[in-house]
Amino acid sequence: MTYTCSNCSASMIQETAHGVEIGVCPNCGGVWLDGEELRTLMTSDPNVIQEIESSIHTQVDQKPLGPSKLLCPIHKTLLDEYHYLYNSPVIVHSCPECGGMFIHGEDLPLMQQWYENSLKPPTKEEEFKIEMAKDIADHEAYMLRQQHLLGMFNTFRGFRPGWYGLWL
Ligand SMILES: [Zn+2]
Ligand SMILES: [Zn+2]
Repeated sequence: MTYTCSNCSASMIQETAHGVEIGVCPNCGGVWLDGEELRTLMTSDPNVIQEIESSIHTQVDQKPLGPSKLLCPIHKTLLDEYHYLYNSPVIVHSCPECGGMFIHGEDLPLMQQWYENSLKPPTKEEEFKIEMAKDIADHEAYMLRQQHLLGMFNTFRGFRPGWYGLWL
């Protein structure tokens, strides 16, 4: 299906990466990732699962910051806002109905940088923050969203280096 950009309402262009359709906005560079397709990717690629397990200690979710101003292109309901990787300045917008996600185009390079940093061993201070975040996170929602985030990045990796340059 063709998505309408949550940010600027332009019609998104369909891109396919690892068999997953991604909506890319030609106007503002925003990206929509469909929740169902992310789940399919997760279950079809054993390497993805392995990467999740090896990265699990650095991927901590938290409760939503609150409702976003953006709408899900499928459900037309308000998305929830989350910090990407629990303490980054990047905000992702996620649909509570379908698990789809919207990311602003200008946040993508920053997000990739945070992701790469997260793969390095955490410092003592970071470990403490992670433990604190784990304590307050709702476990089930945390696991689910974590999978979405990781699935998304395994998708994005196909475009590196500088994959976002293809779209903007
Ligand atoms: Zn847009
Ligand atoms: Zn939705």
